[in-house]
Amino acid sequence: MLITGGSRGIGAATAVLAARRGYDVAITYLSNEDGASDVVAACEANGAGAVAIRADVAIESDVVEMFDRTARELGPIRAFVNNAGTLHRAARLDQFELERLQEVVSVNVIGAFLAAREAVRHMSTIHGGVGGAIVNVSSAASYLGSPNEFIDYAATKGALDTMTIGLAKEVATEGIRVNAVRPGLIYTDIHALSGIEGRVDKLAPNVPMQRGGSASEVAEVILWLASTEASYVTGTLVNCTGGR
Ligand code: NAP
Repeated sequence: MLITGGSRGIGAATAVLAARRGYDVAITYLSNEDGASDVVAACEANGAGAVAIRADVAIESDVVEMFDRTARELGPIRAFVNNAGTLHRAARLDQFELERLQEVVSVNVIGAFLAAREAVRHMSTIHGGVGGAIVNVSSAASYLGSPNEFIDYAATKGALDTMTIGLAKEVATEGIRVNAVRPGLIYTDIHALSGIEGRVDKLAPNVPMQRGGSASEVAEVILWLASTEASYVTGTLVNCTGGR
């Protein structure tokens, strides 16, 4: 299983759970080498082969290389988790600057598309692959819209939802299932980028279940979507939001 953004948060929890479930695991990171090394060690402690690869998903050559290296070091890729993502400080749309828009679209949309492209090239039976599963990590933001915070981020996740539906149909006869998980408010570092201190705790009262979620609760959904237990599930967007 190859997971982008596996050095912390949802990607890290997914890597460790995947190792427990018997996968060898490749994770990518942007700059947090120590976090990535800790995740590799945790995967290895669970008996899995594991490798950490530095790769910026917004850079095409990095994306191509992360797939090639994973296949070289761990064998054919059977599952890909399109998880790396970013957001910027909470602001109204009328305050957005060009650089912010370019970065969030480059990472969350173009990066996710480049990575999905490479996943299909590696896994599709028409390219000589053995099939597999792609799980896109979208967000509840795609249907909530994130007003006054990050409509740009929300819209990139809408793009990911649409890609999930279209790509699932495109490769349905090529051995690849494509699904997305849409997490709600999950306790990870990403909220610090918003500049809103304690964001998950502040918003938790709006969640029907009255709490934020954990990265491992999202990882469980990802592992199920990637597994053969979900063999007839494709083009589906699974909310993991406590009802929000
Ligand atoms: P996180 O804790 O901030 O971790 C982000 C991960 O992505 C890190 O491993 C980071 O690497 C990596 N990354 C960031 N930019 C990258 C880039 N340009 N290229 C490659 N890797 C990059 O975030 P998270 O909360 O686990 O989020 C994971 C996914 O879940 C994201 O797509 C996010 O939009 C989605 N999501 C999260 C929540 C939530 O409440 N947490 C809710 C809905 C959706 P470094 O460690 O090296 O920086």
